Parts: sequence; C-alpha cells; structure tokens
Amino acid sequence: SKARGSGNYTFFTPEMANALVRQSRIEANLRNAINQGQFILYYQPLFDIKTGKVIKAEALIRWNHPELGLVSPNEFIPLAEDTKLIIPIGKWVLRTAIKEAKKWHINGYPIKISINISSIQFQQNNCAQIIQEFLDEAKLDPQYLELEITERVALANPDSIIRKLNKLRSLGVQIAIDDFGTGYSSLSYLKKYPVQSVKIDRSFIQDITTSTCDRNMLEAMLIMAKNLDYSTVAEGVETSEQLSLLTQMGCDVAQGYLFSKPLPDDHFFDFLRRMLEK
Ligand code: C2E
Ligand code: CA
Ligand code: CA
Ligand code: CA
Repeated sequence: SKARGSGNYTFFTPEMANALVRQSRIEANLRNAINQGQFILYYQPLFDIKTGKVIKAEALIRWNHPELGLVSPNEFIPLAEDTKLIIPIGKWVLRTAIKEAKKWHINGYPIKISINISSIQFQQNNCAQIIQEFLDEAKLDPQYLELEITERVALANPDSIIRKLNKLRSLGVQIAIDDFGTGYSSLSYLKKYPVQSVKIDRSFIQDITTSTCDRNMLEAMLIMAKNLDYSTVAEGVETSEQLSLLTQMGCDVAQGYLFSKPLPDDHFFDFLRRMLEK
C-alpha cells in the first residue's frame, strides 16, 4: 500500500507502525545501552593519496542491540541528541577511541584518530577539559587526535564556535570540518576558523566520473582549500576511477569503501598490520 495518496491525508501503514515501534524501543533502550556495554566502535582508514599510506582512522559508533542487531548511528544519534544522552555516549566514544589509538601507537602504528563531535557535546562548557582528561589518561600525544565538527555546527554561532575551537586547538589537537559543502558556506569564510583539514562530503564525490559539472565543482573546492592551506579529504571514495581523478586534482587524503569499510577494532588492527607489512 502507498503511504501517501493524492489527497492531503496520510494512510497509516503497517510499515509506518513498525518504524514507530522500532523508534520507541530504541529510545527506551538507549538509556541502558552504555551501562550494558552495547556500543562498539568501528574504525575506517584514511589514506594519504601521494604515499598510499594509512595516516588516520575515523571512529564510527555502532549499537549492538540485543534484539534489533547492529543499529546505525543515523538511526540513534539524532535521538541521543534530543535526549542529551549524546553527552555520556560522546564521552564513551572519546575515551574508547583515544585508548585504541594509544594501542596502535604502542604496537608501532603511529596514525591519528578522528572522532566525530556532536554539536550538543561541543556546546558543553567542559568539553575541552574532558578531552584533556582522556588524553592524559591514555598518555596520547594530542597531535594524534583530530576532532570532526560538521560544517553546519561551525556556521551556527561563529564567534562562540571560534572561541571553543581555539580552546581545543590550544590543547594541541587537530580540527577538521566534516561534511564540507553541505552547509553552503564558502571556504574563504572558514578562514577565520582554526581548522587544519576539510572533509568533502560524499555527495560531491559520488558522480565525479560521470558529471563534468560535479568534477568542476570539486576541482574548484580543492583549489580554494589548497590556497587556504587546508589538508583536503575526499569522503566516500568507492571506485578506482574516482581515486585517479582525485589524484589528478591534487586531493590529499581519501576515505571510502574502495580502501575499506569501517571495521571492528580487532579487524582494523589486522588491517593496519597487513598495511604495514606491505
Ligand atoms: P560521517 O561522519 O559523515 O561518516 C561517514 C559515513 O560514511 C559513515 O557512516 C561511513 O560508514 C560511511 N562511508 C564511508 N565510506 C563510504 C563509502 O565509500 N560509501 C558510502 N556509501 N558510505 C561510506 P556511518 O558509520 O553509518 O555513520 C553515519 C554518521 O553518523 C556519521 O557520518 C556521523 O555523522 C554519525 N556518527 C558516527 N559515529 C559517531 C560518533 O561517534 N559520534 C557522533 N556524534 N556522530 C557519529
Ligand atoms: Ca565524520
Ligand atoms: Ca562526513
Ligand atoms: Ca557525510
């Protein structure tokens, strides 16, 4: 059955009922998920295009729900933000990912860890203090930590955001603008922000092999980013054709299924070992 008819009314379908049941279950269970140890982090490698080496990994959260199975962050992060549960969840992510990065370093793989920071987390007054605590606890050199802030967050309240970012920068951590291109800002506007890299959203990479328009747009972004001295990251690289265009255009870093999907910690560790032995 169709969800929407031609009139102004909406039919309530069994699919919609199921979705609602799922959502309310997720909400009810989210609270216990931390205590029950149901969250896990996956890690996806980022490659330096010139050298072909893994230089960073992005931590991506998953929820291993006892009945629903692996729940994607797109499904529960918005709920976690609404309920402010993103604050304890975000702390868990920071602490776990920082510890994991230290493990890579101890084993001879000195790569960076990139962690997604929600706007709610970022707005907390003690955000920098918490990050400093976890860095101290794991004894991780701050230059190996990169925080990903979405472009939308960065643009929401420029002055206070810039102040916060400067505070984080003074800890010695790196800042990346995530989902770049989706917030309708210009790169020159971002010049005021203490940012070292921009991650160009997958939607701008997706069609570069078939659309001249998209290719030109990406090239313009890369040229501007280079002028501003940002390291440029292409998200969602899935084909070698895309990679060779990105290489020609001088993009610095690539991330995507072409190299690896996000992997659980032990698989990622094996992946690093294989990469290093090559
Ligand atoms: P994001 O930060 O833009 O992360 C990139 C997403 O693209 C990830 O989805 C990743 O698995 C996916 N991806 C990577 N390479 C490819 C590719 O080649 N093709 C395609 N189609 N997709 C690719 P994921 O893991 O489902 O995460 C979705 C979003 O959830 C993230 O988008 C981020 O906004 C949020 N998220 C994930 N983990 C965290 C976290 O620990 N904290 C917060 N606040 N948000 C998180
Ligand atoms: Ca990200
Ligand atoms: Ca992104
Ligand atoms: Ca994205």
